[in-house]
Amino acid sequence: MDIAALFSMAAQKAALFRQGAADRRHRPERDYAGSVAAFSEDLPIHAMAPQKVIDDLALRAEPGLHAMTGPRFHGWVIGGSHPVGVAADMLTSAWGQNAGNHMAAPSAAAAELIAGRWINELLGLPATASVGFVTGATMANFTSLAAARRAVLQSVGWDADRQGIFGAPPITVIIGNDAHATVFSALQFLGLGHDRVLRVPADAQGRMIVAEFQRIVQNVEGPAIVILQAGQINTGAFDDFAAIIPVAKEKGAWVHVDGAFGLWAQVLQSKRHLTTGVELADSWATDGHKWLQTPYDCGYAIVRDEPAHRQSMTIAASFLPAASEDERDPSHYVPELSRRARGFATWAMIKHLGREGIAEMIERNCTAARLIAERLGAEEGIEIVNDVCLNQVIVRFGAGLGGEEGDRLTRETIRLLQESAEAFAGGAEWRGRQVMRVSVINYQTGLPEAERTAAAIISAFYRARGRNSD
Ligand SMILES: *Cc1c(COP(=O)(O)O)cnc(C)c1O
Repeated sequence: MDIAALFSMAAQKAALFRQGAADRRHRPERDYAGSVAAFSEDLPIHAMAPQKVIDDLALRAEPGLHAMTGPRFHGWVIGGSHPVGVAADMLTSAWGQNAGNHMAAPSAAAAELIAGRWINELLGLPATASVGFVTGATMANFTSLAAARRAVLQSVGWDADRQGIFGAPPITVIIGNDAHATVFSALQFLGLGHDRVLRVPADAQGRMIVAEFQRIVQNVEGPAIVILQAGQINTGAFDDFAAIIPVAKEKGAWVHVDGAFGLWAQVLQSKRHLTTGVELADSWATDGHKWLQTPYDCGYAIVRDEPAHRQSMTIAASFLPAASEDERDPSHYVPELSRRARGFATWAMIKHLGREGIAEMIERNCTAARLIAERLGAEEGIEIVNDVCLNQVIVRFGAGLGGEEGDRLTRETIRLLQESAEAFAGGAEWRGRQVMRVSVINYQTGLPEAERTAAAIISAFYRARGRNSD
């Protein structure tokens, strides 16, 4: 097999795709049904030449690709899969390291060790906190909360690793009403139950109301976990860490922070007021594939109590070389044994941007979000629903119209924006009403792109309103 020709061909296709990303229409040309049809065929019986396979794959896949890496893609909260991270990831795949063990794959383990230290330093977290390289914030929440579950039960003499949680002293979980759905998933996976929680009412921005938290935590006895949030998925808002964490600690609770994208505000001096006190928590979940722009998939589970983290994720196996104290095994901090060497892409992104470059990008994204909010807010009939404190903007169309009618106009504006393919934003429900959610979290997005996005949204709104009044 001509490996060089094969890899060059794949790299060339990748480059062509990415070079056009900024001008590409911000929507897939072919929908799901069309894509299923494009891929559908009987199980292949005979071999096919390597280059033909890759050609065929690209031919079938490309029409159904979304310009998620594009500068005017504002759907969900999705990073841009930076070319430097992608290049590192190409090598990662080619190197084929099973990253579980430091003796078997020394470079993969070393890159993770160093990249993990850098992450802690960037995010202002304790230098000694352990970092597990997982698939994303969902698994980072799961992993951190597994460590929490272990530790709070151990503190009352129960060994959850050995005994499980049947018959264990009950754990009280306190969580904000506007926490991310995946945190509830993590609680579900861990046997803590997504409904078996004390939900703290939140304010208009989705922040825990501190007085409500104090009232609820007062009556808590025994093992407890408090889950806070840095960056609400719609509003970008932050819980008041400085007020809440000390109170939770007094109760002996483990405090976990879901900071999938918002924790990166720690990198910016100008945003540090949002995160004051976040370093007092016991564990933090964040993503590489959001603001750090690594390719999918990459998240970090960061835990202050390293032994709790390691022991909750590990059972020693006789066929694996034992790690000594100072030789970190990547598999000891994540649920998986065999996995991708995620440290390489993380290392490459931090090396490429540096602290300054990361800060500049985050600042630029936040400024772009503010500009979009200003442009939209200046239009009659458009309402910016949130305080734009970070990179998230939620928008309501048809201000002054009744609830149902405003919902309809907002949905129609989203539909027409997506149809225009000039920019992409999706919808969400906020406080029982339909909103458009605009997330700015891409290394290519600055003021000029924000102007184009704002103009595209305003134009979609005019067209939606025109239809509405027909
Ligand atoms: C994106 C996000 C998650 C889920 O992260 P994944 O990387 O998709 O697993 C969890 N919490 C918050 C606040 C998020 O923004």
